[in-house]
Amino acid sequence: MTAFAGYDTGPAWQSLARQGAKGIVVSLEQHVHNTIPRCLALVVVAPTALIENRDCIATAFTLSQKADTASNAQVLGYPLSDYNDACQGDPDFISPITLRWPDSTESLIFDSEIHGYHGEMESSAKFHGSGVPKAFACIECGHDKFAVTVQFDYWDACEDLLEDEPDIPVENYFCNIIVAGKCANCHETNQMVNMDL
Ligand SMILES: [Zn+2]
Repeated sequence: MTAFAGYDTGPAWQSLARQGAKGIVVSLEQHVHNTIPRCLALVVVAPTALIENRDCIATAFTLSQKADTASNAQVLGYPLSDYNDACQGDPDFISPITLRWPDSTESLIFDSEIHGYHGEMESSAKFHGSGVPKAFACIECGHDKFAVTVQFDYWDACEDLLEDEPDIPVENYFCNIIVAGKCANCHETNQMVNMDL
């Protein structure tokens, strides 16, 4: 696995943004493929294939605790069904989503309150979990350790943002997030979070 964390730096993005402001066109696609959303600042990321092709600009990353070491994690969050009666039987989680690594340290990877398009605008209207989180259990076998992948989708609103405000860290303004985990026991891929923002 190649650590991609070196790209996740403010100065690199800022210099890219300045170039953009000087008239060198940096496309949304180019930008989001070179800049990691800030919600992943606490983990090591590596680019990977999309979880789902949604016919929009999108990026996907595998998440690890340490560079060059694949690590399985428990995915802690809040069952959507506890917050929305219309979603009984739906295994999806809502945020905050935290990964718990084998050494018991935890890394927040997504909170709709502050991350994603409306979170960044301080206008998130999404269900939000509170209290003690639960560990996602594999829908096939009930095991709770996963190789975790995250996908970010960027819709037309992000193109508009980048055009209007070339200095904005548009990678943070993703319009949909998917969190998926490949079960360490049975290898089933579980979709854990799928939320437009
Ligand atoms: Zn399983």
